[in-house]
Amino acid sequence: MSTAAAYALSAPDGSFEKVTIQRRELGPHDVLIDIKFAGICHSDIHTARDEWGRTRYPCVPGHEIAGVVAAVGSAVSRHRVGDHVGVGCMVGSCGVCAPCLADEEQYCAAGATMTYNSVVDPAVQPGGHTLGGYSTQIVVTENFVVAIPEGLGLDVAAPLLCAGVTLYSPLRHWGAGPGKKIAIIGMGGLGHVGVKLAAAMGAEVTVLSHSLSKQEDGKLFGAVGYYATSDKQTFRDLRGRFDLILNTVSANLPIDDYLRLLNLDGTLVILGLPENPMSVQPFNLAGYRRSLAGSMIGGVAQTQEMLNFCAEHGIGAEIELIAADEIDGAYDRVVASDVRYRFVIDVSTM
Ligand code: NAP
Ligand code: ZN
Repeated sequence: MSTAAAYALSAPDGSFEKVTIQRRELGPHDVLIDIKFAGICHSDIHTARDEWGRTRYPCVPGHEIAGVVAAVGSAVSRHRVGDHVGVGCMVGSCGVCAPCLADEEQYCAAGATMTYNSVVDPAVQPGGHTLGGYSTQIVVTENFVVAIPEGLGLDVAAPLLCAGVTLYSPLRHWGAGPGKKIAIIGMGGLGHVGVKLAAAMGAEVTVLSHSLSKQEDGKLFGAVGYYATSDKQTFRDLRGRFDLILNTVSANLPIDDYLRLLNLDGTLVILGLPENPMSVQPFNLAGYRRSLAGSMIGGVAQTQEMLNFCAEHGIGAEIELIAADEIDGAYDRVVASDVRYRFVIDVSTM
């Protein structure tokens, strides 16, 4: 075992504290990564504060990891010392079920091992659950490590490891491209990357935000339309307009209002994961043959494809870099929708 510095929470209402954690010895297929940057995803907040009711403490969140390979196991062939690499939400899966064989490890029948808060053998991670990227080093099996292409800064690439692929995957699955009218609800960490990706794919993108306060940025990211959802007129003007709507909002929304914005055969995809259930009026699905769907991150191969696409199109996240001792304040600002557009921890401050 080796040691790393990390920031951990020991209770849902606690504050982050600097701790020392252990990382496993390198196995033949393992990669040791010196973490340089870690994004703060709203899922980190839901988990750290136990909003989903399944958090194991101490909790070291962080699944938007960008760094440099420090060492590799004897059988590693995909990565070399010095490579720029990333790790997203998963660090393992069964590898033999149908979703895994289809490169959709996020839907692994046995349940993927998530980068943090997943139960593992204490011989692999003392304490018995995975600890994430708010730390100086991590050991990950090579198949769950992706290459960050040259030209993408590690700081602006970090959020792509979760926010990027969570939007890229449904955009590809539902055929985003020229001629498709797409709306993105919520322009936070996920949403702003979604606007950039959908625009780069050639779709016509509209943002549906609480207010018009981020309108200028939305247009810069590639949106052609930008509407305030606090204005009831928005829902009259946009009725039946979109082929695809991606909901990135971390709180419950009146989903029927948004379903009515879909065209014939349109799909509303749930990406945001608030803790409470939502209700739907069946007529809003039956009418216009609409679909309500969901999507969970993306597989490792698609994460690599997304990073390559971002490098090709000059897409990075818009970030606010913070020091490790500023995580608590950053969480409060994310919850208040006061982030432009992703907080990223500068791990050199640990
Ligand atoms: P975020 O940066 O906080 O962005 C969420 C955005 O939602 C905010 O910027 C805000 O946008 C809007 N919003 C927040 N509270 C709202 C409210 N009460 N009413 C209306 N709009 C509100 O969060 P994120 O990191 O993008 O994550 C968003 C959600 O996706 C979280 O629930 C997270 O757990 C989930 N997530 C899911 C996956 C997946 O695989 N499905 C992956 C990652 C994250 P405006 O200011 O523009 O209105
Ligand atoms: Zn995330």
